[in-house]
Amino acid sequence: MSNVRTSARTMASFGATSARPEFDDAQTRNEAPSESFGSLSLPWQTIAASLDGEASAAFREFVQHGQRLSKELANRVAESVMRWALKHGATHYGHWFHPLTNVPADKHDTFLARGLQASHVPIEQFPGSLLLQTEPDASSFPSGGLRSTHEARGYTLWDPTSAIFIRADGGTRTLCIPAAYVSWKGHALDHKTPLLRSLDALSRSAVAFLNTLSGSESCSGIVATLGTEQEYFVIDKAFLASRSDLLMTGRTLVGAPPPRGQQLEDHYFGPIPARVQAFISDAERELLRLGVPVKTRHCEVAPAQFELAPVFEEANLACDHNVLTMDVLRRVADRHGLACLLHEKPFAGINGSGKHNNWSMATTEGENLLDPGADPEKNLRFLCSLAAVLHAVDSKNEIVRASIASAGNDHRLGANEAPPAIISVYLGGALEGIVEAVASGKIADVKKLAGVDITARLHMKRELTDRNRTTPFAFTGNKFEFRAVGSSENCAWPMTILNAAVADAFQDLKGRLSDKLKKGARGEAALELVREVFNETKRVRFEGNNYAPAWVDEARARGLPVNSNTPAALAPLTVAAKTAFLVEQGVLSREEVQSRFEIYAERYIKIVDIEAASLGEIARTQVMGAVEEQIERTARATNLLKQSGLPGERHSAQLARTAGHLEALHAAVEALESARGGLHHGGAVEGMQAAADHVLPAMAKVREHVDALEAIVSDDLWPLPKYREMLFQGV
Ligand code: ADP
Ligand code: MG
Repeated sequence: MSNVRTSARTMASFGATSARPEFDDAQTRNEAPSESFGSLSLPWQTIAASLDGEASAAFREFVQHGQRLSKELANRVAESVMRWALKHGATHYGHWFHPLTNVPADKHDTFLARGLQASHVPIEQFPGSLLLQTEPDASSFPSGGLRSTHEARGYTLWDPTSAIFIRADGGTRTLCIPAAYVSWKGHALDHKTPLLRSLDALSRSAVAFLNTLSGSESCSGIVATLGTEQEYFVIDKAFLASRSDLLMTGRTLVGAPPPRGQQLEDHYFGPIPARVQAFISDAERELLRLGVPVKTRHCEVAPAQFELAPVFEEANLACDHNVLTMDVLRRVADRHGLACLLHEKPFAGINGSGKHNNWSMATTEGENLLDPGADPEKNLRFLCSLAAVLHAVDSKNEIVRASIASAGNDHRLGANEAPPAIISVYLGGALEGIVEAVASGKIADVKKLAGVDITARLHMKRELTDRNRTTPFAFTGNKFEFRAVGSSENCAWPMTILNAAVADAFQDLKGRLSDKLKKGARGEAALELVREVFNETKRVRFEGNNYAPAWVDEARARGLPVNSNTPAALAPLTVAAKTAFLVEQGVLSREEVQSRFEIYAERYIKIVDIEAASLGEIARTQVMGAVEEQIERTARATNLLKQSGLPGERHSAQLARTAGHLEALHAAVEALESARGGLHHGGAVEGMQAAADHVLPAMAKVREHVDALEAIVSDDLWPLPKYREMLFQGV
């Protein structure tokens, strides 16, 4: 055995026995989270606290209400940020932003401002203007037609509501300043800009609704909260290096099913292997220092699959922290000789990875709108907030679906391990009962509602009913869990859509409530509104098994959209009426919506193209040679048997079978190459269609023969690390 697979296996065994945790020092081992938490993070509250009275107030106005920062104060803030960074060993700084590529971007500069002074001593400087805004060359980021290649100017603008942090890696520390990224014309070119706009929209219309509901001005702001459960795989790095498909595309494009996958159901919550534990602990320590409140870790369902979850935070910060989490997981895994795979479906036949977005809304005082309180007034607020979410997911159903569409997620959604591509809402037995009772008029007056202790009923029933793991959007006690988001995605996009849809729903509900208030008392008016909405949104509520094939038919019968792949899921973004709410809520302009469609469509086409090219290469340059050797070997044996007069029919048959697959593989690769040609004819719609209808099926055909051959070819000739090795060896 002398192929790359052999060396990978040797290295994996070596890694498994030699890797040891990389503690900073003996102390770190027993450090309580609070001791290091946030030591490399600088949230705005800390900056505000370091300023004296008037300056602090002006800075708060800047952060919370977008007031202009005076030049003098900007300089003071920047100076203190720089001092903090230098104290922590940072030599460079950069705006850290999120172009529509799914990986964060930054460009590093030193604090060296003007070179040598008269004294010939270099000095550090960081003026406020550079903290607030920089101008990177924007020509090489996706813009979806928002600007032509020669119109390169783009701006990154400091987002003070997130938290500045210091990234430590490779013996270097860099100050990272979270930023939004817009074009010279002010168009959003990133994930953050529309997210921030959607948070404003949500706050604006939720406040307007809640104040109408209470008849007071008691509510002044609403924030969205988010806790992201991140799933990922960990394998030995040597396998990544010897599988060009994993390296190029993040997933295995071929691979026969191993005898053992997840059938024994023994990985979920099982003991974390020591080597992985060392990596996770290291990553957690780094994340805690960065101010990411990581809390939960466990083994997931598939072998070599794990999950990490933080304590929830305000949605904008939580989105940045999730991007940071993915980044840290990748880099720390690498330091441990491991590879962290964030793709939605790295391995066929076992579960893929998602990112459960636990989302809720809270007042600026921290009261959770989706927490069903015990007293009636709060119950009504809860029921109205619930109604707004149901209204949002029902009326903006296709755009919510579009927000989680990607080439990677297509392999996961509806694959009997993850929610289907149909977006429905699961409320759970107890709450569903209450919603039905309100909808049907059984709970018809507010006083009766007062007798229903929602909290008690939920808690009691929660003990009795199982969770519905099959749903894409579940109510889980005091929040919704959007479970269909892909593991590698920036969750800012689905959160932007959800916030905007709920903002739009609150706006509609406010108008309707105001009308009803002209005729009746507050409580009755609100209850009537809630009843209407519960009835209107009936189709989107589903308590059953979302994996059952019958659900697809039922969903269609209910009039729920069934957009089962990315081309179908993205199409509604091009229909003005369906995305009007984004424009009306000030979240994305019409051009920006169109540009996002173009970018997501192009990305889908490019990903499929890279996968197809990678698969063709593997088939031609790795698999075929091994099969030819196998044929030679089998042919020699068959001849020998013949010459010796021994029985050899089965050998001949085996030879014919192997040769048959090889011939078919040649044909399948040719067909794949010609299908690839269709990706670049016509526009984005045609390209996506060609990918889904021709290239992906052609890839499946190639895989079918490669996987059949893997089961035939002698183990010592097979060049690619096998599933059993990647999933069970080295971790
Ligand atoms: P479950 O086990 O039902 O998924 P957990 O209590 O483990 O729920 O929470 C999962 C995630 O939900 C965590 O990140 C947690 O911080 C987050 N979470 C809890 N409450 C809220 C909330 N009000 N808003 C947003 N996220 C929340
Ligand atoms: Mg959960």
